[in-house]
Amino acid sequence: FLEINNLKKSFGTGESRVEVLKGIQFSVEKGEICVLLGPSGSGKSTLLNIIGGIDEADSGSIVIEGEKIEDMNEKTLTRYRRKHLGYVFQMYNLIPNLTVKENMEVGAYLSDHPLDINDLLKTLGLYDHRDKLPNQLSGGQQQRTSIGRAIIKNPSILLCDEPTGALDYHTSKEILKLIEDVNQKYGNTVIMVTHNDAIKNMADRVIRLRDGQIRKNYVNETKIAAGDLDW
Ligand code: ATP
Ligand code: MG
Repeated sequence: FLEINNLKKSFGTGESRVEVLKGIQFSVEKGEICVLLGPSGSGKSTLLNIIGGIDEADSGSIVIEGEKIEDMNEKTLTRYRRKHLGYVFQMYNLIPNLTVKENMEVGAYLSDHPLDINDLLKTLGLYDHRDKLPNQLSGGQQQRTSIGRAIIKNPSILLCDEPTGALDYHTSKEILKLIEDVNQKYGNTVIMVTHNDAIKNMADRVIRLRDGQIRKNYVNETKIAAGDLDW
């Protein structure tokens, strides 16, 4: 479904050149939850941004459903992002003067087959909050809204970069459970960066990066529901 071959990426030039990704190779099956772990600076966000078509690799290839990202021109890359990808970041980046429902509708813009918004609001536990503005919401509710905005176009891949980074322990658990629920209900493949080791229990695949390389890539045989996690 998603294949990443010998991906390399450096930043800077000359003396200050740093090789952040040194030949990353792995693949993800459709519908999997794949978690990327690794210390700060190990290249997790860089890798996610390259998969997301936000940043470009120096060499290597990414193939998604038989299509190579690096072969795409600007137009097909835009279409790829629009059709295949949803993004959730640590910061919710909601539009402050739009309601919960309106912020989610923004994500449906130009989408061929958006999910039913009322159904999604209910799945996310936001139906009763749908007419509120972001500043009337808790952090967890804001992140739910941002997940709704990312998922409403029903992307093949949901990319999450530390989605619980700004949330407390309890709310983090809720959000992770919600991402798992969304994955089960809508079948989106999830690639999620986190610092939290405990999350590996909800993942189908765990990839651990270190010094620009994959140190571990294992498939989780005994997947435990996030709700049962003993943190
Ligand atoms: P964290 O857990 O702190 O978010 P990370 O694993 O996501 O870290 P990256 O953000 O991918 O790490 O960064 C990897 C390395 O690449 C870091 O040393 C960072 O300084 C460098 N880097 C990332 N983006 C750029 C950029 N646009 N220009 C120069 N250096 C960059
Ligand atoms: Mg990062």
